[in-house]
Amino acid sequence: MCSSHSIDRDKKSFGDNMPLNLDDIQGMHFFDPHIHMTSRTTDDYQAMVDAGIVAIIEPAFWLGQPRSGLSSYRDYYNSLIGWERFRSSQFGIKHYCTIGLNSREANNIELAEQVMELLPAFIYKEGVVGIGEIGFDDQTPAEDKYYRAQLELAKTASLPVQVHTPHRDKKQGTSRSMDIAIEHGLDPYSVIIDHNNEETVKEVLDRGFWAAFTIYPFTKMGNERMVEVVKQYGSERIMINSAADWGISDPLAVPKTAALMKAMGIDQKDIELVSYRNAITAFAQSGQIDENDFVASTQIDQSQKFEGNTILRGGQQPRVDKSSIIIK
Ligand SMILES: [Zn+2]
Repeated sequence: MCSSHSIDRDKKSFGDNMPLNLDDIQGMHFFDPHIHMTSRTTDDYQAMVDAGIVAIIEPAFWLGQPRSGLSSYRDYYNSLIGWERFRSSQFGIKHYCTIGLNSREANNIELAEQVMELLPAFIYKEGVVGIGEIGFDDQTPAEDKYYRAQLELAKTASLPVQVHTPHRDKKQGTSRSMDIAIEHGLDPYSVIIDHNNEETVKEVLDRGFWAAFTIYPFTKMGNERMVEVVKQYGSERIMINSAADWGISDPLAVPKTAALMKAMGIDQKDIELVSYRNAITAFAQSGQIDENDFVASTQIDQSQKFEGNTILRGGQQPRVDKSSIIIK
């Protein structure tokens, strides 16, 4: 799927066959609590704001290839609280992040030890709303060790935890992730279990955790399956995200799923909870989210600079407006 699609094109198709009308969700606000904007384009930011996304959380994760040293982590974490946040602000989207050592790279023990020492320098920064995304990939002993160590860090810092659940052996890995969180004394209400499916959701909700669902195009949780989940389980402690990154993914997954829910007769209040409010409630436990920062009409000034750098290229005119959401 092309990441630079326009809203008009998206109106014509939804998934393979569902008609989608984003007009149905006009005026609604959305919060995507899991999206890797570092890997996305300015066209994505524009499409997101046009579709009603007002705030996002960018979890720290792996870059698709191994890092060669600690400085790569330092630069990456700095970009999450610096340049990427600035880039997002240039489109009127409030950007938060979670900071952590991802499960896959926990297996490089020498580097993981160094990262653990680096984390306290970042997790207390402004706009860091949790420790994440952490958890299991292959469910190795090293992953177990650093998941536990970061749960302790979250407890010390009183921050929510964003848990990546494994794609292989998902059900067992999800149960295990929750067992360990409880073993370490975390309140399930402060732990967001991500990448759920129909097989995991009941246990996650029954045990008092937040259940996040990633809507990937073509795979896993398609939007239509998500509608069924909300029909069956309601909207309490459930949230949806795009997890859009450098792979095939859709940064508009949250508003599109909201539109489908509307078309399928889900209550407006339930749509609002799963596509906006619940993510705020969960991650605001960090003390770092003030809804006033993104509910009021956004003022955009693309003539601003971040450490002397702008998102504009030679000859481009900055968009400085208070109402229009279209770049002239
Ligand atoms: Zn992710």
